[in-house]
Order: sequence, then structure tokens, then C-alpha cells
Amino acid sequence: MPSQTLEQVDGRQKLRLLRLLIAVAVYVPCALMLAMVSWQGFLPPWFAPVWAGIFAGTNVFFFVLIKSGINLQLRDPSMTMGQMAVAIGAVAFILYHAGAIRGGLLMLLLVILLFGALRLTTAELLLMGALSSAAYAAVIMLLSTNRPDEINLRVEWLQWTNLTITLAVLCPLVGYLSNVRRRLRESLRMIKEMAQRDALTGAFNRHHMSEVLDREIGRCERGAPAFLVLIADIDYFKQVNDAHGHLVGDQVIKAVAVSTQDILRKADYMARYGGEEFVLIIAANDVAEAGAACERIRTNVEQLPIPELQSQGVTISVGGTFYRHGDTQVSILGRADAALYRAKNGGRNRTELDAAALAVTN
Ligand code: GH3
Ligand code: MG
Ligand code: MG
Repeated sequence: MPSQTLEQVDGRQKLRLLRLLIAVAVYVPCALMLAMVSWQGFLPPWFAPVWAGIFAGTNVFFFVLIKSGINLQLRDPSMTMGQMAVAIGAVAFILYHAGAIRGGLLMLLLVILLFGALRLTTAELLLMGALSSAAYAAVIMLLSTNRPDEINLRVEWLQWTNLTITLAVLCPLVGYLSNVRRRLRESLRMIKEMAQRDALTGAFNRHHMSEVLDREIGRCERGAPAFLVLIADIDYFKQVNDAHGHLVGDQVIKAVAVSTQDILRKADYMARYGGEEFVLIIAANDVAEAGAACERIRTNVEQLPIPELQSQGVTISVGGTFYRHGDTQVSILGRADAALYRAKNGGRNRTELDAAALAVTN
């Protein structure tokens, strides 16, 4: 079973690539616009190819950082501010060369700011806004030094003031949207988490188990090694309820679940199957490993101190089977259940492995 964290990292990297792709998709109409501005003579003829080269180079650079995983070592693996800073630099380069059309092209800086709405906090957006404003101010100062005859300083500084005020208004607004989006994402994460967990024990629920079992069966069909499925059932649990009440019964179920989860290895999986029954999916290479895993789980419960039951403890019976070629959820759980039944009939507080599975794996 792949670890959840690896899957999450993979998912986030895919999202980062998608964001980069969105950025590239936005650059394309901007490039068309620049081509038109060049064609009309407001930008020098060499400009479009140079800009296209810079555009391709920087985006390939960010693509390689994500693809190679180097970005994961950065403080912010999304590199949002880095990508925005590069884009602001590219726009400043355009503004420097844009001549009379410069004022109209200032809106490119606002388009860049909207990218921050996907991730940045208000403070970070204000920083990006300040960078945009500073970039245009630097362009004006450079032009006034290098090409004083080509610019009207009064117009430029007035445009700069307008840009800076617009950014000062937009940044908190975009920051608010970014914050709403972050809170929604967090709520969604919690809802997903709740939908796959059992409220009493915190273990995964039956629905999630069914998905994981399907996924594991699929992996075996594609050649992955067979896994072990166990059903563990608390012995004589009705007597616990009858003697101590259902609330104590609940605490016992919870204690068994939590302590069993605690001793599982990272690659192992546990879900609450029903009332006081649990399904475990365990990575085991052979029958000896499978037997050892079952015994470890069984003896852990046997030795579990449960203060609510005074000196009395609880035990579990465990039935297990290996995945076999052609298995479905029903067939594999059916064999594990039959093995559990034998463990119960054999006196309880014991483990039984499915005989047919032993024959296959021996
Ligand atoms: P066996 O050794 O054969 O498993 O005997 P048992 O008494 O444990 O029998 P069984 O597994 O059939 O009974 C399970 C009981 O667990 C029945 C039900 O009242 C109780 N139960 C099911 N879900 C819950 C729950 O969430 N909380 C509590 N307190 N009891 C539950
Ligand atoms: Mg039961
Ligand atoms: Mg029981």
C-alpha cells in the first residue's frame, strides 16, 4: 500500500503543474497582444522573439523544478511568489520598450496579481503589489535617464500613482478571496476526512475499506505481491455490554481500535468493519509473517489494560486469508470470515488462517 503522504505530495505536485499550465495559457493571449503591439510599431521588431524566448525559458525552468521535485526543498514549493516576481520582471521589460502604448500595458501587472488569488495571503499580495509598483517606478527612472526625450514624466508618474492606488485596493480584495478559498479548501479536507472515518474509534470506516480493498485487488491483478486480509472480532462482546452498559462497551471498542492501530506498521491498514469487528489489510510475504502479524495483533488486545472493565480484559479472534488470483471483495472477505468463524468455534482468543490460502502461498 503506498503511503498516504506520498500520494498527497504527488497530488500537490500535479496541482502545481496545472497552475503552471494555467499561467502559460494566460501568457499566450498576452503574447498575441504583444505581437499586435509590435506589428503596429509600438515595440521594436526584435522584441517579440526575445520576449518569447524569455517566456519559454522561465516556464521551462519552473516546469523542470516541479518535475524533478527540487521545488519540494523550497520554503514554498508552489513557488507562487517566485513565478509572480519573474512575470513582473518580464512586464517591466515590456513597459521599458513599449513607448506610447505603455499606459495600456500596465494592466498586465493586474493580471499577474490575480494569480496570487490562488495561494497568497494578503500580506504576500501586498508585497507583490509593492513589487509591481516599484518595477514601474524603476522603468520610469531608467527611461528618464536613458531616453529622456521619449517620455512625458508627468504622464508616467500620474499613471504610476493610478497603478499604485489600484494595486492598493486590489491586493486586500484579492487577499480576501484567497483567504475564503483557503478556508473552503480546509473545510473540504475536513469533510472528506470525516466521510472516511468512523466517529467512535477514528479508524477508517467500511466505505473507505471497500475502496482500499478494491485498489489493493487491482494492484495484485497488475502483478503486485498478494496481501493479507484479517477480520478481528471482539470475543463475547455482548456480555461486556450486558455487564457494564453500552457506553463502557463503546470505550472498549475504541480502546481496542486505538491500540491495534498503534502497533500496525505504516504500510498496514485498519478499518472498523461493523460493531466490534475490524478489517485489516496487512503486507505479509508468507504464512509465517502472516501468522506472526495475527498473533501480534491478538496478544496486544489480550494484554490491553481496560480500566472500565476493572480486572477483566477483552480478547479478539482473528480470521485471515491471502489475496488469490481472481478474488473479489466478497470472495476474499468471505474466506477471512470463514476463518474467523473457525477461530470462534475453536475456543476464541485465537487466530486462524484460511487453509486454501496457505496451500497457495506455501
Ligand atoms: P462472539 O465471541 O461470538 O463474537 O460473541 P459476541 O458477544 O461478541 O457476539 P457478536 O460479535 O455477534 O456481538 C456483537 C455485539 O456488539 C452485538 C451488539 O450489541 C454489540 N455492538 C455492536 N456495535 C456496537 C457499538 O457500537 N457499541 C456497543 N457498545 N456495542 C455494539
Ligand atoms: Mg461481531
Ligand atoms: Mg464478537
